[in-house]
Amino acid sequence: MEKIKKLLMTRDGRSFYIRSMSKDVHTQFGYIKAADIKKADVGDELVTNKGKKMFLLDAGFIDVYGKIKRGAQIVPRKDIGLILAETGVNKKSRVVDAGGGSGALTLMLANSVKEVVTYEIREDFYKIVDENVKFLGFKNVTLKNDDIYKGVAEKNVDLMTLDLPEPWLVIEHAAKALVPGGYLVSYSPSVPQMMDFVNEVLRNDNFLHVKSCEVMEREWEVHERKVRPKTQMIGHSGFLSFCRLIKR
Ligand code: SAH
Repeated sequence: MEKIKKLLMTRDGRSFYIRSMSKDVHTQFGYIKAADIKKADVGDELVTNKGKKMFLLDAGFIDVYGKIKRGAQIVPRKDIGLILAETGVNKKSRVVDAGGGSGALTLMLANSVKEVVTYEIREDFYKIVDENVKFLGFKNVTLKNDDIYKGVAEKNVDLMTLDLPEPWLVIEHAAKALVPGGYLVSYSPSVPQMMDFVNEVLRNDNFLHVKSCEVMEREWEVHERKVRPKTQMIGHSGFLSFCRLIKR
């Protein structure tokens, strides 16, 4: 994948990536000539052959992130936002993430914390995460093509994020890997997984359960006096369970 540096954005937030500075950019609103893009500065307005205004912007992390290759179902941003906000991880934090999947959560963590170690059992998904980490250019991610159910080698970890079919199989390993007070967060699409995970956590004297919840984001359309919720939304993604290690 070529690294994206610039993009064109309409006033209502639709973005079009410039994959090559020597090619015209075609959109459903018409095209903009490569020569016009080359001459333009960031912030400049460009107009397509059909008269649609576009603005030239530098592509930031989130713009490039939106273009990652997808394999497994990713954790949506609304849920990642809560993980970051509830655990308060920062540039000093060490995180273990499993399974890697498409690397969506791994990459967002890499953008916010000191280092991330990601376990992914499937080689095909491991390769996708690896490609996506290189695409974004992160140097603070260690990828392991391993089964996390077998154990976690890392120590003094501040946060462990689990997006796995059987997250309860990692609780004992997390007790050895986390620092006291550290967070174990599990993301599961269905109720039985959340239930079995939390009940297993509560049977373990080393952990406490902070809360389990889901995040609902409802986007609104705001145009003149037409102000209303959009018809479609992400109805359901997953449940989040936040737990903390009390002692080792
Ligand atoms: N959180 C990821 C998506 C993970 S999907 C993202 O945001 O992109 C779940 C992943 O867990 C799958 O890729 C699956 O192969 C992996 N997985 C399942 N069991 C595992 C195990 N025991 N150890 C490591 N990875 C595992």
